[in-house]
Amino acid sequence: MQQYGFIGLGIMGSAMARNLITAGYQVTLWNRNPEKCRELEALGAMVANSPARVAAHCHITFAMLADPAAARAVCFGEEGVLAGMTTGKGYVDFSTVDAATSQEIGAAITAKGGRFLEAPVSGSRKPAEDGTLIILTAGERTLYDEALPCLEKLGKKILYLGEGGNGAKMKLVVNMIMGGMMANLCEGLALGAKAGLVPAELLDILESGAVANPLFRLKGGNILAGNFAPAFPLKHMQKDLRLAVELGDRLGQPLPCAAAVNERFKEAKKEGFGEEDFSALYKTVS
Ligand code: NAP
Repeated sequence: MQQYGFIGLGIMGSAMARNLITAGYQVTLWNRNPEKCRELEALGAMVANSPARVAAHCHITFAMLADPAAARAVCFGEEGVLAGMTTGKGYVDFSTVDAATSQEIGAAITAKGGRFLEAPVSGSRKPAEDGTLIILTAGERTLYDEALPCLEKLGKKILYLGEGGNGAKMKLVVNMIMGGMMANLCEGLALGAKAGLVPAELLDILESGAVANPLFRLKGGNILAGNFAPAFPLKHMQKDLRLAVELGDRLGQPLPCAAAVNERFKEAKKEGFGEEDFSALYKTVS
């Protein structure tokens, strides 16, 4: 039976790996903190003691890691994925990273005869649990075709965007827009409250008009309820804004709004809200 690997069992990775396991795939896991493997091990997954072992054992290895530094460490580190990569194997990285990191990983995997697909995802904890993510793939087309049945267990919309780097860039643009929306929502709620307006009425009015959207509906309600439990950790939103601003810098595209929003999220991280949901930005503006 075909073997699949999954590396990185954080908020997103643990839900995605679970969906593969419950769909009947044979999955071998690795996570830096091995304790996070236990729950899925109980569901029948195997656990390896290094990313290299996962890659060596599996035909296709998936990864879902925090940021470029984590993605690089897992690929290039001692006992990393690269060390277990051989001809024909596939590596699919769901992590949100910059295009250069993704392309560097792709080139190294290809140099060892492997195949690489970047596949950052849009959607948070709940869509990861429900298997309704939007998956933005780019890179090796044959690996896309082969991984598609697995990806269809994880997402409701799977896109193939062409050459490596396009998935990473698309994801950063999408999240840059989302970060701006969150900053506007938080400032609007704070201003409304200062002006003596009823916050629930403000959300209701937003919901009824042209700016209605699921983000305002869900996160607006959570903010009013004081619920900042992490679905999308604030530190990752700030990382995505930083990478988007860097992309704009490299391409000569002015991004004054995104740059300002990045500074707001940096401030929120500095104030200790990095591990909370990105809607915790509200605490720094209210
Ligand atoms: P998370 O809960 O913080 O999990 C991060 C994972 O990366 C953990 O498995 C962690 O291992 C691992 N990791 C971090 N540094 C590492 C290193 N140096 N070496 C090896 N492993 C390392 O993050 P998440 O929310 O699942 O997000 C994962 C990725 O998906 C991020 O790129 C994020 O931007 C993106 N994303 C998140 C969401 C969301 O709503 N949460 C939505 C779309 C995309 P440990 O368990 O050992 O710390």
